[in-house]
Amino acid sequence: MGEDVRTPINGIRRLVLIVDDEHINRRVLGKIIENDYDVIYAENGQEAMEQIRKRQKTLSMVLLDLIMPRMDGYEVLTLLRDDPDLSRIPVIVLTSERSAEVKSLQLGAADFITKPYDMPEVILARVRRSIELAEDNSIINATENDTLTGLYTKKYFFQHCCRYDQYYPDRPMDAAVLNVNRFHLVNELHGRLFGDTVIKALAGQINHILDGTDGIACRSDADSFYIYMAHRDNYEAVLNRIITELIAVTGQTRLSIRMGVYPAADKSIDTETRFDRAAVACNALRGNYTTGYCVYDDKMHEKELYSEKLIGDMDIGVEEKQFRVYYQPKYDIRGVDPLLCSAEALIRWQHPEYGLVGPGAFVPLFEENGLIKKLDRYVWREAAAQIRAWKDKFGVTLPVSVNVSRVDISDPGFEKEITDIVEEFGLQPGEYLLEITESAYTDNSEEIIETVRRLRSKGFRVEMDDFGSGYSSLNMLASLPIDALKLDMAFIKKIGENDKDLRMVKLMIDIAEFMQIPVIAEGVETKAQYDLLRKSGCDIIQGYYFSKPVSPEDFEKFMEDRINHTL
Ligand code: C2E
Ligand code: MG
Ligand code: MG
Repeated sequence: MGEDVRTPINGIRRLVLIVDDEHINRRVLGKIIENDYDVIYAENGQEAMEQIRKRQKTLSMVLLDLIMPRMDGYEVLTLLRDDPDLSRIPVIVLTSERSAEVKSLQLGAADFITKPYDMPEVILARVRRSIELAEDNSIINATENDTLTGLYTKKYFFQHCCRYDQYYPDRPMDAAVLNVNRFHLVNELHGRLFGDTVIKALAGQINHILDGTDGIACRSDADSFYIYMAHRDNYEAVLNRIITELIAVTGQTRLSIRMGVYPAADKSIDTETRFDRAAVACNALRGNYTTGYCVYDDKMHEKELYSEKLIGDMDIGVEEKQFRVYYQPKYDIRGVDPLLCSAEALIRWQHPEYGLVGPGAFVPLFEENGLIKKLDRYVWREAAAQIRAWKDKFGVTLPVSVNVSRVDISDPGFEKEITDIVEEFGLQPGEYLLEITESAYTDNSEEIIETVRRLRSKGFRVEMDDFGSGYSSLNMLASLPIDALKLDMAFIKKIGENDKDLRMVKLMIDIAEFMQIPVIAEGVETKAQYDLLRKSGCDIIQGYYFSKPVSPEDFEKFMEDRINHTL
């Protein structure tokens, strides 16, 4: 803080209550702080509670002795903790015993001053610090209050963890993050009210588990809980207990939870980082339907460092043109011979240290933090420039599709940017195709449908990517403004092997027929897959069977073949 402890906080004199049964103690402490604070006194717990209730609006701090007649300090702490109006007032405990400190800490004490009072500066600094912290906290409580679960706020939680570690540096503690699987679906299917019930029940169960232990918990946001508790080797029993109770309370048998653990935390690592790591482990289970947990390990740590490096290197990568756009041909197979009909632009990163890196390593990462917007703009311009260059060189247009991330679509500038790019290179919107993944539609359907509708009315063509991987209802599909369905690769992989996937593919082809739009199959690798798809009525094929994505120079041979073919 560095500031003189004697300056009033924000220029305001605060009111402090000193509670001690010994007259001499009250006098000494009062003398130390009375220059800086307005001071009132009480001789026991009962008197203290009267004063506190009377002045609850203006009182900034209680300095509390523990051993007193009538009502002792512990009882005062308990009463304050349990009263939502009074619990905001910080209490510093006056004590000469370390053992008493831990008990008071658990009852919500903010700090301690040890008797006898020999260092006035230390006392003043502690009083000031606790008042400042409490005032910060009350702001947080007001904006971020977790009235739903009654659990601690995140800020208080972290303070508590730190303090706990100061007192017990050698006790191995685990940082754990607990989430409800597919919570957004729980909300969507059963309503927000039910979602709240689940969260409340879960908070109740977590409290149950922690009862009588040193552990504490908070809700970090929505369906995410942080728990700090004594180390254990296995979490199966704990999770089973929580989920069994959760199902019993809510009556919803399909609920499941996941947990990430950063075990036996190294206390030199700050608390927030430990919970970030637990969250990484928890995220590794995202999308699961079953209850389970995952422990943070070295491999995750390496992956995180790798991700951090990629994030840090992106800007310079764009500047130095390390990103390359590759093109993969799409063939129309409706005629006698397959005919090149368009291409998909796919990004690669020629990284100075890691060599050629595929989009799987960085696209999802850049989607998480919004960096993808910058990268996609780069790809869109490159693709437009390429269509233009080929048009000038070969005298024909090869339409190219670009991938549009869900992050792009929700950006208000998106529509104008795409339109500007196409104009800049003198292209028709119909020569530029947009691929939007199916799950983007289900995430935020109304907004996306509206945007897509406007783009189409300008002449753009839109393909639904990865169809079959999301949760589109037939109802929604029928009303969707799209120009083609691209089947998810997962179905194509196994069509030669099992009946189920082939039936699914046929069903999706029927849907496209009903919508009167063509079907594109991607990920086609073998002749057998190609034949099956052709026989089933698929219109367009993209996959290693024809070619992997290649550099623009290598792609030109497909253009030349096409031109020679039609001559
Ligand atoms: P996607 O849009 O579904 O692209 C198809 C992916 O399938 C590409 O992977 C392609 O190389 C791969 N593929 C094509 N044919 C075959 C095949 O026969 N067998 C196999 N095993 N794979 C095949 P890639 O290039 O690694 O891209 C992965 C994903 O990354 C893309 O999936 C897309 O979602 C995303 N992506 C790629 N480039 C961009 C971009 O510029 N912007 C955005 N936002 N996303 C991109
Ligand atoms: Mg695509
Ligand atoms: Mg795809």
